[in-house]
Amino acid sequence: REWCVALPKVELHAHLNGSVRNSTLLSVELAKQLGDKGVIVFEDVKDVIMKDGRSLPECFKLFDLFHILTTDHDTVTRIAMEVVEDFAAENVVYLEIRTTPKNNEAKGMTKRSYMNAVIKGLKAVDAVDVVLFDSKSRTNDTLTCTPTIGLDGDIKKRRIYVRLLLSIDRRETTSAALDTVNLALEMKDQGVVGIDLSGNPVVGEWETYLPALQHAKELGIPITLHCGEVANRKEIQAMLDFCPQRLGHVCCLNDAEWKKLKSLMIPVEICLTSNVMTGGAPSLELHHFADLYNAKHPLSLCTDDCGLFSTSLSNEYYLVAATFGLSKPDLFHLAQEAVQFIFADENVKMSLKEVFKHAEKRLT
Ligand code: 5GP
Repeated sequence: REWCVALPKVELHAHLNGSVRNSTLLSVELAKQLGDKGVIVFEDVKDVIMKDGRSLPECFKLFDLFHILTTDHDTVTRIAMEVVEDFAAENVVYLEIRTTPKNNEAKGMTKRSYMNAVIKGLKAVDAVDVVLFDSKSRTNDTLTCTPTIGLDGDIKKRRIYVRLLLSIDRRETTSAALDTVNLALEMKDQGVVGIDLSGNPVVGEWETYLPALQHAKELGIPITLHCGEVANRKEIQAMLDFCPQRLGHVCCLNDAEWKKLKSLMIPVEICLTSNVMTGGAPSLELHHFADLYNAKHPLSLCTDDCGLFSTSLSNEYYLVAATFGLSKPDLFHLAQEAVQFIFADENVKMSLKEVFKHAEKRLT
């Protein structure tokens, strides 16, 4: 486990509000307060909060609660800051954090002001060096993924590259989805590098989001889609035909879809713990990771919602080693390969390759 923590890692599939620190405790405390104020009926959500294993519908019930708790500017800022600190503490050297920009008139919140609050949080991180924008000068710096002593005797901080993906929630209308894509374009210089489609997979229709996703494609904004969390044949087919830059989950694919995914070589964000906990995969041993890995399909290990599922990226690497017998060099290679699938530009890729080159001597 310690080795998995020391391994530099790339996180490509992490939802901001699913990665809230000590989420259960926080929810219980805050939910009680909100219950006392009459904002929610605490008894309705208590059972879901207290449970360890959660079904997919229960997760979305919990997200609704999270959003009541977290959707004010100051809380969003605090969460964003803490989430980056937590990933950096795990030796994540590149983090793509995804979040759904939210309008909330009652709190004076727009999608834009929500995102500004997120960015404020990223900038407020002090414990680690957050690289949020593409900055050429930085790529020539000495690269560090663990704290080291500089020539001046100062301890250099750990460095983490952070980029943002804007999520379209499946409950949204075409016009709201288009707003999100346009916001992503506006915020390109502020660390936003892509678009995600997520939210309850049994809600909404592919045709609703397609115009916005098509627009993003035309604008050259990279896209990742939550695909096959439920067995919706028509939608899985449409998503494969759309050919996004990456796909998340791919749990319920049939043989023909599986074959198509492999021939298209679309990189997959693998979320082991999340899939097992929500029933997308029958068990760790039977998870489709093994099939994709053996087929040398491009993939990257991810946490999805490390707060909600009580996991960490180091733990996901550990689980892969323990379940499928990967060696340390295999795990190192897996982590290193994920650099190929990041949405940030070539400069960042080059810097990350250096990080792994430095770490290789130490770890393998
Ligand atoms: P947020 O976008 O509010 O920062 O993060 C929480 C949201 O991410 C949820 O409301 C949901 O839309 C999405 N999300 C988180 N985990 C999952 C997941 O496992 N599957 C899907 N489809 N969506 C998810």
